[in-house]
Amino acid sequence: MLVTMAEILNRARKENYGVTAPNVQSEDTVRAVIKVAEELNAPMIIDVNAFIHPDLPWFINMIRELAALSTVPIAINLDHGRSYEDVMLGIRSGCTSVMVDRSSLSYPENVEQTKEVVKMARALGISVEAELGHVGMGDNYVVDGVSNLTEPEEAAKFIKETGVDCLAVAIGTAHGRYKGTPHIDFDRLDKIVEACGEVPLVLHGGSGTGDENLAKAVRSGIQKVNLATELIVAGKEELEKFIEDPNFDKWKLMPTFIKGYSDRLAHYVKLFGQNDKAWTK
Ligand SMILES: [Zn+2]
Repeated sequence: MLVTMAEILNRARKENYGVTAPNVQSEDTVRAVIKVAEELNAPMIIDVNAFIHPDLPWFINMIRELAALSTVPIAINLDHGRSYEDVMLGIRSGCTSVMVDRSSLSYPENVEQTKEVVKMARALGISVEAELGHVGMGDNYVVDGVSNLTEPEEAAKFIKETGVDCLAVAIGTAHGRYKGTPHIDFDRLDKIVEACGEVPLVLHGGSGTGDENLAKAVRSGIQKVNLATELIVAGKEELEKFIEDPNFDKWKLMPTFIKGYSDRLAHYVKLFGQNDKAWTK
């Protein structure tokens, strides 16, 4: 069942659980994500990067068809729409949600460009995620882990001014692999949650942040956790063990990668309490 991201996240906000947003790269990973969601009876958000596929409209359409046939609620979100063109392509291709990432711009520019998308997306029944503060890169964690963190009052103001459906916040996570130990500013998160009222919050850079940190973030009021690197690394590790055997069965190569990817995703679905939260229309 195809739904918007707002439908999924507003329920998660009310019932206080988190939802995984795995990044997909191929049909195999899309099918894996949907299978995990169905097996655990969980609503799911599929995150798609604009650069990930040479034919984005085809790729999104394929996801739409699989999602529509699924028994569980599934949203398709364009991750990190960095230009107006990216966002338009995501919408035209059939995403049910888009992220407008203007977190590298000034506050007024971020507000202005996010608002522009919200107005149009709202008319089409598409949800919008934006980012305030900037979630940087794990390989530059010494700097990115402590700079451009989200200011609680500014976050509340941003939500009011833009009308976004959910907001990605910078509280000490980073994209990719961490160089150093992630430190999450939970005091800041508490203040953001209090300031932002009922609007669901998003955490980018979930990979490598650690079960304890992520479970606490979800308990504290994060509703969406983006996962990319860690799922791919889990697939790669499973694959490495498999190909150590020189007589490996070639037909099991991709299923082996998918097993690693899926097992790690299932782990997070259970950690965030997203299992058994699926609903039917
Ligand atoms: Zn991200």
